[in-house]
Amino acid sequence: MDENKPKIKDRFGRIHNYLRISLTERCNLRCFYCMPEEGIELRDKAEFMSAEELVHIAKIFVDLGVTKIRLTGGEPLIKKNAASIIRELGKLPVELAITTNAVVVDRFIDVFKEAGIKSVNVSLDSLEEDRFNAISRRNYFKAVRKNIDLLIAHKFTVKINVVVIRDVNEHEIINFVHWSKKENVHIRFIEFMPFEGNSWKTEKKFPYNEILNKVSQHLGVNGYYKVSDAPNDTSKNFRVVDGLGTFGIISSITNPFCDTCNRLRLTADGKIKNCLFSEEESDLLGALRKGSDLKQIIQSAIKQKHKERGGLSKFSNEEVQSRKNRAMTAIGG
Ligand code: SAM
Ligand code: SF4
Repeated sequence: MDENKPKIKDRFGRIHNYLRISLTERCNLRCFYCMPEEGIELRDKAEFMSAEELVHIAKIFVDLGVTKIRLTGGEPLIKKNAASIIRELGKLPVELAITTNAVVVDRFIDVFKEAGIKSVNVSLDSLEEDRFNAISRRNYFKAVRKNIDLLIAHKFTVKINVVVIRDVNEHEIINFVHWSKKENVHIRFIEFMPFEGNSWKTEKKFPYNEILNKVSQHLGVNGYYKVSDAPNDTSKNFRVVDGLGTFGIISSITNPFCDTCNRLRLTADGKIKNCLFSEEESDLLGALRKGSDLKQIIQSAIKQKHKERGGLSKFSNEEVQSRKNRAMTAIGG
């Protein structure tokens, strides 16, 4: 890191150099834990960042020391001008990455390569067609599986995000772990998190320890081992003995990683969220259109960041229900 560059630093000394940008709130799937069945309220196009505004704001973050940008959403690849945004961001001095449901990834392989994207995160909550389609309330299982194979064939690093929900898909954990043995894929089991309208209940989480117990019961404690985690990694990572890929656990509730948090979020309507769980937002798009100083707004937004999990402490059903937050699809996961 260039020591002379300004930095985005919070009250706890954490330097924020990783920006996640939501390209759109909209999606071609309706995963029940993320998006209401009827979709989200359609808003005027003018309320969202144009491609030019998005790239302009991204450059300001880069001036403030951001070195990694991940595109997300909603589904980033259904944004009308996704390809040109990806190409433009690919010209910035950052590591560019993307999280996608992969439904239309086959149309973007060349764009990803041109933009220097090396790693693609894909959501896949079940290896069984009926269950995947029921969770996502659409029928794209075959397209998604095919596109994951395509990404692997094109030598992208492929991480598979699996939101584990009790009584929905926890019995597939071992099948996913086996997949990580056979192929160079990186499975990440994500703890189910509460957002507006997703009927989260603490009982539906499937925590870190339970996932590892399941793996140990199946493979034996010597059947897999811990691998080192990258700095600021949200997942605790493991490998099956002789495995080609890895599996990891991202448990923001039962095993949080806030101490090393370096992440900021920019929503599709141009608001900064300093934490996935924060209630506060700062309007960068409105400020840009008024000609205000965005750097100052970014710096003051980060000073409001809580030490842990947006100020949530217990994650009880009562505490979660008393809070305001957007649906995940409107934040950018
Ligand atoms: N559409 C893209 C996708 O599905 O990968 C990108 C956006 S999606 C909101 C980003 C990630 O957030 C996905 O891996 C999804 O599984 C995860 N996610 C959404 N809602 C969640 C929730 N309630 N708890 C945990 N993870 C969630
Ligand atoms: Fe769409 Fe991704 Fe949310 Fe599923 S998790 S509804 S694919 S944004």
